[in-house]
Amino acid sequence: MMRISGGARVAGVLGRPIAHSLSPLIHNAWIEAAGLDAVYVPLSPAPGGLKGLLEACRGGLVAGFNVTVPFKEEALAAADTVSERARRAGAANLVVFADGSIIADSTDGVGILAALAEQAPGLDVQRTSAVVVGAGGAGRSAAAALLEAGASEVRLVNRTRERATKVASALGDRVGVFGWEAMAEALDGAGVVVNATTLGLAGGEPLSLDLAPAAADAVVLDMVYRPLETPLLAAAAASGRRPVDGLAMLIGQARPSFEALFGLPAPTSVDVRALALAMLGGTA
Ligand code: NAP
Repeated sequence: MMRISGGARVAGVLGRPIAHSLSPLIHNAWIEAAGLDAVYVPLSPAPGGLKGLLEACRGGLVAGFNVTVPFKEEALAAADTVSERARRAGAANLVVFADGSIIADSTDGVGILAALAEQAPGLDVQRTSAVVVGAGGAGRSAAAALLEAGASEVRLVNRTRERATKVASALGDRVGVFGWEAMAEALDGAGVVVNATTLGLAGGEPLSLDLAPAAADAVVLDMVYRPLETPLLAAAAASGRRPVDGLAMLIGQARPSFEALFGLPAPTSVDVRALALAMLGGTA
């Protein structure tokens, strides 16, 4: 059983809602496996309350926070220092406090590439045309990470075209913008397809995509992990394409977050995917 002393290192995750988050389960399992005197807690600041919370934590009150919906853009704006990858992602999923400063970072892109490497080994992102559906914070992170990994182009499809246009102008000319009605054109020959919308969440609208125009061996990543096998991933598998799930991405972004918050690599001795699947089993 974990023992937490008065000198414990404290970190957490900020979101609203937050009760569904798997991050406390994952990080506390790693804390326990590493034998750390530390704790990782879920917190849900009131709307407008994020900046005040971050200001109050300057000076080492807590080590840092992961940040999730709807605070990622606000966390970026509240920071004194922003990493290059957070700047390109246009959002922060990690904030650490050091020497009185608030430092914003983004590990979502690392999570995406780790998920692709784990569940689609051998995929060569370089010179691949990638399609990212969704141009919110997660879609922009995915586009930035795929470009960084060497994709020849990223085709960004979004319901609200102006949002995709803004992302494209921030990320440069290897990003093309497609309206929802041009989905088939965007998918034509694509080697990687990413769902970065909220479509496909259990109980909500599915993402109805006809994958036929994509490459026959395309890799399809769905950021949604409730359910773990979304209709999109089921369609990918049924058509012989390779599905990559959102839980692999979640764990992939948690690893570098753990190292930044607790100062050592996430232990490999505990199977956090199995723990998360057990928890999802009750809710998916
Ligand atoms: P966000 O900023 O709110 O963006 C939501 C996106 O979904 C926008 O592109 C939005 O399009 C689109 N969308 C919503 N309803 C739609 C509909 N009915 N039809 C078409 N498009 C619709 O959210 P986010 O932070 O980018 O997150 C997006 C998803 O990724 C969420 O499900 C989140 O949980 C998931 N995510 C997963 C991980 C992971 O580790 N697995 C990490 C980050 C995010 P408009 O611009 O037109 O509104």
